[in-house]
Amino acid sequence: MPYAKMMKETVGVPILCAGRMDNPDMASGALDDGVCDIISLGRPLLADPDYVNKLRTGKTSLIRPCLSCQEGCMGRIQEYSALNCAVNPQAARERATRFIPALQKKYVLVVGGGVAGCEAARVLTLRGHEVTLCEKSDLLGGNLIPGGVPSFKEDDHALVRWYVATLAGMNVKVRLKTEVRAGDVKGYDAVILASGSRPKIFSLGDDAHTYTAADVLEGKKDPGKNTAVIGGGLVGCELALHLREKGVEVFIVEALDHILKLNRPLCHANAEMLERLIPYKGVKVRTGVTAKSFREGRLALSSGETLLVDSVILAVGYTENRPLYDALAEEANEYYVTGDALRVANIMYAIWNAFEIASGI
Ligand code: SF4
Repeated sequence: MPYAKMMKETVGVPILCAGRMDNPDMASGALDDGVCDIISLGRPLLADPDYVNKLRTGKTSLIRPCLSCQEGCMGRIQEYSALNCAVNPQAARERATRFIPALQKKYVLVVGGGVAGCEAARVLTLRGHEVTLCEKSDLLGGNLIPGGVPSFKEDDHALVRWYVATLAGMNVKVRLKTEVRAGDVKGYDAVILASGSRPKIFSLGDDAHTYTAADVLEGKKDPGKNTAVIGGGLVGCELALHLREKGVEVFIVEALDHILKLNRPLCHANAEMLERLIPYKGVKVRTGVTAKSFREGRLALSSGETLLVDSVILAVGYTENRPLYDALAEEANEYYVTGDALRVANIMYAIWNAFEIASGI
C-alpha cells in the first residue's frame, strides 16, 4: 500500500492495489485514505463471492475470510489443474454443488464444534433442517484455536469468527460446554459426529517437560529458552517459526530426510517459503534422526548427538478422536462421521467432507 500511494501521487492514471487485500476494513480504508483508486480481489472472491455486496451493506462479519492457505486454489491448480477453495466448497463448481432444499425437515445433532461440525451445521440449516451443535469446550473452532495463534496464521481465527457469526445469524442452536454422551441422541433424526482429532503423544522420559504443540501455542505450557520440536511437518515448522518470533532457540528433529515431506502435496509457494524461512529465522534442523530419550534437559538423538533443551514439544501428527463412535452408531437413526474424526487431514478436507455429508441429508 505505501508503494501504491507513492504511485498515485506520481502518475495521472488510476492505481489498482492487489494482493492480500482480503480484510474489508483495510481494503475500504485504502480507498478512503487515497492509497489507490481500485482494490483488486482474487482469492477473497473464491472464499466469498458476495464479498463486495456484504461490504457494501455493512455485513462485514459475514464475509467468509480467505485463509491465504493456497490449499484449494494455487495448490489444486498445481496438482490437479483445478481451481477451488478450501473454505468455500462451492467455488468454481457452483452448479454441481448448489444447495437442494431438504424435502423433509430433520432434527440433526452435530457433535463437535470444530470447522467440520460448524460447516455441517451451516449447510444443514441453509437446506432447511433444524440443527443442534454441541461443543464440549467453551469455544467453537477446535484445532483452529491453537492453529491460529502464530501471527502468520491469524486468518484461522478469522474463519472461526465467521462461523460464530454465521451460525448465530441462522439461529443454529449452539450448545457450548456440552459434552454429548451415549443416550443423548434420542429424539434426533440424524447425528453427525465431528469430534475432531487429538495430538499423538509418547514418552521420552521427562513427561513433565514434554508438551504438545497445542499446549505451547495456547500458552498452557512455557517451552523455556531452548526447545526441540519433534516432527518437521507443517505443525512443527509453523510452531518453530512462531517460537523464534518469541526469541526461543528451536531445534526441529525430523525422522525423515526432509522437513514437510509427509505434508505433500503442498503448494510450492508454501513449501518454498517455509523451507527458506526455517533456516533464515535461525531454526536448527536435524533430519534423518529420531529422538531416543529426554532426561534432565538432555535430548538424545539416534545420531549420537545430545541437544541441551528446556523442553520437548511433540508435533508428530494427530489421531482421530471419536470415543463415541460405537455408542452413537448403535443409537442414532441416521449416523455420519466427518472431518478429522473420520480421517485426519486439514481444514480444506474437513470443510469439504462436512459440506458433502450435510448436502446429502
Ligand atoms: S484455498 Fe485458501 S488461499 Fe485459496 S482462496 Fe481459498 S482460502 Fe484463500
